[in-house]
Amino acid sequence: MKLNSPLQVYKYLPKINCGKCGEKTCMAFASRLVDRSKKIEDCQILLQDKEKFLQLAELLAPEIREITAGVGDRKVRIGGDDVLHRHQLTFFNPTVLAYDVWDTMEEVALIERVKKISEFKKFYVGHYLKLDMIAVRSTGESAAKFKSCVEKVTEVSTLPVMLCSFDPTVLKAGLEVCADKKPVLYAATKDNWEQVSKLALEYHVPVVLFSEGDLDSLKTLAVSFNRLGINDIILDPGTYPEGAQLKSTFENFIKLRRAGIKESQKEIAYPIMAAPITAWMIDNDPTPTSYLEAALASIFMIKYADIMLLHSIEPHALLSEVYMRETMYTDPRTPLKVDSGVYKIGNPTKDSPVITTSNFALTYYTVESDLSSGRIDCYLASVNTDGIGVEAAVAGRQFTAAKIKETFDEAGFDFKEKTSHNTIILPGLAARLQGDLEDVMGIKVLIGPVDSNQIPGWMDKNWL
Ligand code: SF4
Repeated sequence: MKLNSPLQVYKYLPKINCGKCGEKTCMAFASRLVDRSKKIEDCQILLQDKEKFLQLAELLAPEIREITAGVGDRKVRIGGDDVLHRHQLTFFNPTVLAYDVWDTMEEVALIERVKKISEFKKFYVGHYLKLDMIAVRSTGESAAKFKSCVEKVTEVSTLPVMLCSFDPTVLKAGLEVCADKKPVLYAATKDNWEQVSKLALEYHVPVVLFSEGDLDSLKTLAVSFNRLGINDIILDPGTYPEGAQLKSTFENFIKLRRAGIKESQKEIAYPIMAAPITAWMIDNDPTPTSYLEAALASIFMIKYADIMLLHSIEPHALLSEVYMRETMYTDPRTPLKVDSGVYKIGNPTKDSPVITTSNFALTYYTVESDLSSGRIDCYLASVNTDGIGVEAAVAGRQFTAAKIKETFDEAGFDFKEKTSHNTIILPGLAARLQGDLEDVMGIKVLIGPVDSNQIPGWMDKNWL
């Protein structure tokens, strides 16, 4: 039985409310365990009772095993999900995106590509979207060549690496230079599994099991690794990029995840790997192929790839992949929001406008970006609406005159001192609050446009 409510978890906790875990009560800690924002190791008291600790650890373990790869800041967690559909709870660890390099690349090109992958970042709703892993592919020339390539990659980048070869000698050569960075081994098959399992045991690294289109053989491999005590396993059922075989690939992903979550088949309840990179096997023309690869990435991000191997690093491919992932892995239980407060946009003076919006992150950053790109120096107040957009928040009374006043009071923003106009601009969608706000704050209230991209034009007509 898996525990999924704070009350169930609370029964296993010491119930002494000592606060050493950083929470005021054991019940609060139980809630944090359920939403996975704390780990059971954070309760030092529970750690002293090993039996109870292990019992709770097992009861809290996700349905799909969670595996870590890499070390330090860029370490990644793979798998760890509990549900088939995001709306049933949330998906936890975003699909790990691994981009390839290969051991016959010229050094200059290799370093340039590794840097592009490692340094890619795109600002989106308050944080940066990044790529996660570098997959070093052996072209089969020699173990020495592969080793030297892995060495260069790990010198240039701190991203986790995946060592890709079906030859255990080549994998071992790669491990010799980066085992301490906890790489992922790709891959064990029915032909090489004995040697690869020895490497996984010797170097304590996660390993991908590969069986193209054959789930029974994949399961047999997983059971064999399990019997050897290897549990950091990722399953690759093969990714066909087109036609009827693409359909069967898609079905295999669903079968694997259903077996792990719905049917509690623990022997295959492991993260799944997709390889949209196989798009390049159909056609080598970069433009259509990179679009096909990005489309395959989207398909398997939805169902149910926990990690994927990709090739194209053109912006159109990367942007669609990171945005898609962000959408899939946003926690539906918690609206994205920014801290409420009064923020400066550009260099506001006493004559600059004071504009209000909600603290729903998507709204806030859209307004902020429209103001910045329109070069409008101003103050932007983000009102705490619990992360709800303006229109719904007005209807639900999360965006009220009192809430707006509270935002300025808490920020210590005095209109008489900070402005020469004693005026505030309400979003058009909150026009009905105009009278209330004038009464509550004793200032002039103007009604701005409904859409923030109309603010520059509105300013020209309405702000002297
Ligand atoms: S450290 Fe443990 S015992 Fe203390 S409050 Fe937290 S959960 Fe309760």
